[in-house]
Amino acid sequence: MDPDVFSKPSVDSLKVKPNLVDYDSSYANFAWESLLSELDWLPGGSLNKAHECIDRHALSNPEKVAMIWLGKNGEEETYTFSDMKRETDKFANVLKGLGIEKGDRVFMFMDRVPELYISVFGTLKAGAIAGPLFSAFGPDPVKDRLQDSGAVALITSPDLRKRISGILPDLTDLKHVIIINKLGRETSPLDEHDLLYDDIMSTASEESTIEQTSMHDYSIMHYTSGTTGKPKGAVHRHLAILQQYATGKWALDLHKDDVYWCTADPGWVTGTSYGMFAPWSNGVTQIIYEGGFRATAWYEVIQKYRVSVWYTAPTAIRMLMKAGVDLPKRYDTSSLRFIASVGEPLNPEGVAWGVDAFGIPFHDNWWQTETGAILIANYAAQEVRSGSMGRPIPGVKAGIIDEEYNEVPVGEEGQLAVRPGWPSMFHSYWGNQSLYNSRFKKGWYITGDTARKDEDGFYWFVGRADDVINTAGHLVGPFEVESALIEHPAVAEAGVIGKPDPLAMEVVKAFVSLHQGYEQSDELRREIMRFVRGKLAAAVAPREIAFIDSLPKTRSGKIMRRLLKARELGLPEGDTSTLEDE
Ligand code: AMP
Repeated sequence: MDPDVFSKPSVDSLKVKPNLVDYDSSYANFAWESLLSELDWLPGGSLNKAHECIDRHALSNPEKVAMIWLGKNGEEETYTFSDMKRETDKFANVLKGLGIEKGDRVFMFMDRVPELYISVFGTLKAGAIAGPLFSAFGPDPVKDRLQDSGAVALITSPDLRKRISGILPDLTDLKHVIIINKLGRETSPLDEHDLLYDDIMSTASEESTIEQTSMHDYSIMHYTSGTTGKPKGAVHRHLAILQQYATGKWALDLHKDDVYWCTADPGWVTGTSYGMFAPWSNGVTQIIYEGGFRATAWYEVIQKYRVSVWYTAPTAIRMLMKAGVDLPKRYDTSSLRFIASVGEPLNPEGVAWGVDAFGIPFHDNWWQTETGAILIANYAAQEVRSGSMGRPIPGVKAGIIDEEYNEVPVGEEGQLAVRPGWPSMFHSYWGNQSLYNSRFKKGWYITGDTARKDEDGFYWFVGRADDVINTAGHLVGPFEVESALIEHPAVAEAGVIGKPDPLAMEVVKAFVSLHQGYEQSDELRREIMRFVRGKLAAAVAPREIAFIDSLPKTRSGKIMRRLLKARELGLPEGDTSTLEDE
């Protein structure tokens, strides 16, 4: 394979016709080892993501801008790679001074501010495992994740600390809370043991420091939802950087002079793999935009900062489409060279809208928390196949398999599976080896998605094989929501499904039955809704709650969400032989 085929500027390369006949055999046999020499490495063969993303460029190109931060109150801060090196060294020295050691878990619960990025890379330099959390989470998801991981340190803001103050006494492993007071607020209600980031950083040593981690050492963990049980911490190794670097070039067409903008929050894996590791291992300048979605504000960012590569998600694209195709035409978006999408299926209308609005198509690609990096993509160098997720990247062999784990004929639906061994593959679910093992069957990693493959090797998403809900690109485990619902005194049982939604793909819908003595009413419905929102995050909490006298259950007592969904959508109920008498 000629690796250069992936790094040609997309404007030219869109005209290049791929060699479809040879695609599978030549690309799947690509040897990852051949890319190892493109990493910088540390003396003695150690590998640390912070060196590849920050120090390496600070040494070779110190004044190059790494990050332009656009705060939600209109602030702007610029950090060169040299600034990033200094600040991350200081933060690593702070952590080491607190006694944090290799393998310790350090969590970040904060908005998308520069200190979030500094603390993640400082944590990696200290050899600890970083755990960024979505700042919209309520206390329950934060507690579950910190408890499960045994986190020893938490970096947060005064407001967010206040939101979770009730759970802190339950976190027996947590030794340090570091407060980043970006807005300069009065911080008096904080606990006397809390450390103020500005104080500890002002006296921290700038001495260069980096733990000599091996490529197999753990670097970062993200909690992800499954069908049963609470979310599981998928843990990644430093080695993942190899694939994050390579796919930054292959699937996002990153070149060193690009200005790149990834709209994902680092609480989700896209916000770290492609909002930190891929761009910075490629030495690219990136925009960090703290604000939420507003079509005009987004176009202003592209225009003002001359964004050339943009990675976003189908829900955002649909919201932009809703704002109209004339709107982007009022801005100068000519800097855009490559635009890509991930997280949910991107329908052909979305791809075509990219051409209407910006003159270039959105390139869909597929991956998940566990895969750590993109595995299937529509490449810059090849024509986009609208509605398809693309084809496996070099060195990755995917397949569509049946219930016995055998590949099905081309064109047939089945489980999407991948041969294990790609560099950014997760390496464990924290503390849950048997669940990790269960994801591998007969030499395949089972993704949990269903899909089909066409005769040219393109993969087409069909759906989830389980009950996990995808709302605006965020996976929500029904169990987590049901657990929060049944904590309300009126709720006896709860079943949660994903209800199709034109904008967010799915929204969370809950069915609840009430304890005796409680009456179904709109007021109670609103109260339960408020209660759950207070515990979870607005994105995860149910958008709709319906009362139901009793929930359909299997004879062994498991709620049949599949049946709730079929009934909601007016679809056939399928096999109900295990249904308990209703
Ligand atoms: P997460 O682990 O939260 O990143 O979610 C991964 C899941 O999102 C996948 O297993 C899919 O169900 C879905 N997903 C990601 N990318 C795509 C895509 N391009 N098309 C369809 N679904 C996708």
